Formats: sequence, C-alpha cells, structure tokens
Amino acid sequence: MLNLILFGPPGSGKGTQAANLIEKYGLLHISTGDLFRSEIGKKTPLGIKAQEFMSRGELVPDEITIGMLQNKVNANPDVSGIIFDGFPRTISQARALDDFLSERGTAVTILVALDVPDDELVKRILLRGKTSGRNDDNDESIIRNRIKVYEEETAPIFDYYSEYGKSRKVGGVGSVDSIFENIASHIDALC
Ligand code: AMP
Repeated sequence: MLNLILFGPPGSGKGTQAANLIEKYGLLHISTGDLFRSEIGKKTPLGIKAQEFMSRGELVPDEITIGMLQNKVNANPDVSGIIFDGFPRTISQARALDDFLSERGTAVTILVALDVPDDELVKRILLRGKTSGRNDDNDESIIRNRIKVYEEETAPIFDYYSEYGKSRKVGGVGSVDSIFENIASHIDALC
C-alpha cells in the first residue's frame, strides 16, 4: 500500500494537491477536516462536539479524531493506498496511526510537507473563505490561531517521520502543476 501523509499548514494547498494525487495514484483521500464538516452538516453528536473546537481554530481532541479516522480506514479495506490530509496533527495521532497501520500489516510510506510562508497562507485562506462557506476561513484571528496551533502541535510530526527517513519538503508556492510534479517525484523515488 502507498500511504501518503500530505502535510503542511492550513492553506498550503493540501486539498488541491490531493485531488491530483488521487487521479495519478488511485488512492483513497481521507481529510479529517472534511469528515468533521460532514458530521457537522448532519448535526451528529460528534459533529456538534467537533464544531466547538473548529470554530476557535483549535484541534479537535485526539480521542475523537483518531476513532473517526480509524472508522474511515476500516470502512475501505480494499484500497491500494491512502492520502492522509490533515491527519496526523499531533504526535500522539502519529503514533496511533503507526500502530493502527502496523496492525493492518502496512505503514506510512512517505510524508510530503508543503512549505508556504505565513502571510501567503493567511491571504489564501481569506480568499478561499469568500467561497468555502467555512467560518474558520473568514476571521483573520482564527486563521492565525490555526497557524500557531500548526507550528506548536503539528509541525513536530515532520521531525518524527524524519527519524525514519520518511519526511520530504516541497515548496508550496508556484504553479499547481509544478508543485504536483515535485510531490510526485518524491513518491516515485520510493515506489
Ligand atoms: P482542515 O480542513 O484540515 O483545515 O481542518 C479544519 C479543522 O478541523 C481544524 O482547524 C481542526 O479544528 C479540525 N481538524 C481537522 N483535522 C484534525 C486533526 N487531525 N486533529 C484535530 N483536529 C482536526
């Protein structure tokens, strides 16, 4: 299986690149943000709980997030690989993912991080907010909080997977196609 963690701060282009990667590699795309938004849309207890945290630009607690992620993976047993988009976001999520994949006889293949300066992230997210309908995309202080949470809690995951030689960095500013080529070259070098 090809298990790719598409990594980077909010607004770095993970969703855009995931769409291209699905097509080229035939992978299942799992975005925990999308899963939460779907639960919120259905007004499930999980969605109502998650919304409390998302509306402040904070992380949803690990015990909720990890269970939801595992359910989604378990519901798709026959895929040839998975793009994890927005997961893991804490070291304990990364450890849980490693344990969970190892029980299934597989592992994270590669982590590709998209590198984009903070001011560019804020600009992109505010622009996306005009059409995304996401409250957390429309308020600059919430956006800055999401970036701060990324730097404090999520960024260390890059080093965590570096220890296993699995982390790669790609410039996330430029044309969608050239960024995609860079990501694909890292994947192709391993597979
Ligand atoms: P995203 O669509 O990836 O930008 O995620 C939107 C929001 O959903 C984040 O700001 C968090 O509040 C929440 N979220 C998404 N994925 C996770 C995760 N792996 N762990 C905790 N919270 C998450």
